Amino acid sequence: MINVTKTYMPSKEKYLSYVDKIYENGWVTNNGPLVQELEEKLAKYLNVKNIVLVANGTIALEIAYCLLKLSGEVITTPFSFVATTSSIVSNGLSPVFADIDPQTLNIKPENIEDKINEKTSAIVPVHVFGNACEVEEIDKISKKHNLSVIYDAAHAFGVEYKGKSLLEYGNVSTLSFHATKLFHTIEGGALIINDDELVDEARYLINFGIDGPDSVKALGTNAKMNEFEAAMGLSILDDMPFILNQREKIFKRYIEAFKNFSLQKQHESSSQNYSYFSLLFEDEESVLKVQSALNREEIYPRRYFHPSLDTLPYINSEVMPNSRDISKRILALPIYAELKEEDQNKIIQIIKEAVQK
Ligand SMILES: *Cc1c(COP(=O)(O)O)cnc(C)c1O
Repeated sequence: MINVTKTYMPSKEKYLSYVDKIYENGWVTNNGPLVQELEEKLAKYLNVKNIVLVANGTIALEIAYCLLKLSGEVITTPFSFVATTSSIVSNGLSPVFADIDPQTLNIKPENIEDKINEKTSAIVPVHVFGNACEVEEIDKISKKHNLSVIYDAAHAFGVEYKGKSLLEYGNVSTLSFHATKLFHTIEGGALIINDDELVDEARYLINFGIDGPDSVKALGTNAKMNEFEAAMGLSILDDMPFILNQREKIFKRYIEAFKNFSLQKQHESSSQNYSYFSLLFEDEESVLKVQSALNREEIYPRRYFHPSLDTLPYINSEVMPNSRDISKRILALPIYAELKEEDQNKIIQIIKEAVQK
């Protein structure tokens, strides 16, 4: 069976050597030494100033909303994983969608400006499939209207923009380290905090708002990463050059094979992390045809992202035509470090046969 992704498992010996350390000191959670070590190493690896590790990517978004004191309406993209919107709603905020650019699949800056009113407090764009948003445009819009910007950068681990980390755009960028992501800690996530003065606050918000032995400073939550998760992250971080190299080879083979198909347009100032590879078909019928042809061979691509978030049952939104159209026509193909070349060739052949292109 071949899925869209496969959880990367690092060397068992390496993981167990970290587990031995946990057993030696009996410290399993609450900002333990491995979480601290992973924070330091990730800050260097990602080339960012402030990183705070948390329990998952969804709670990273929620902590960011809290840190930046959002209220009222938040402008976001309808083309993302459901957590981008659900986290806004469950924090008592109203998501207002701005439609995507059908080429880049990212939120379109012009559409953001149209949605700003006196109730707007922030913009939450997503670097879809690791492709950088129009960060400079979004920066200008946010400054002009005095809005916070939180990038859901769940797909953008390690991506650079004009030679610096893409994560340094916005007030905060959030990452997900879920097992299905490019880099993972089983479950996990992080806040990249670009406003230095918010870092201390983030540290007590993730720990119930506690800022000292007998002191609760603010309304917080429990968003802590544990030591076993940090051990997984530390074990995988060393393998990132290998993981990226493998994925790049697979990504480039797909690009070559599908040069007559439509693909997501990459930002020319953005580096790539090869975290996803998606094909855009002419219509939904073709997607379903390809999907069932692959499923017959026990290959399971995923319709990322489908359905478009403006159709969610718990919100009232205007129709987002570009997002709805793309959602119906897109299919994410298997890509992960251990995907065999022969299996990839089979995937390519089945798709080409199914659409006869
Ligand atoms: C995975 C993902 C999330 C959620 O991250 P979790 O760690 O699973 O909570 C949020 N946004 C996007 C775009 C994602 O892909």
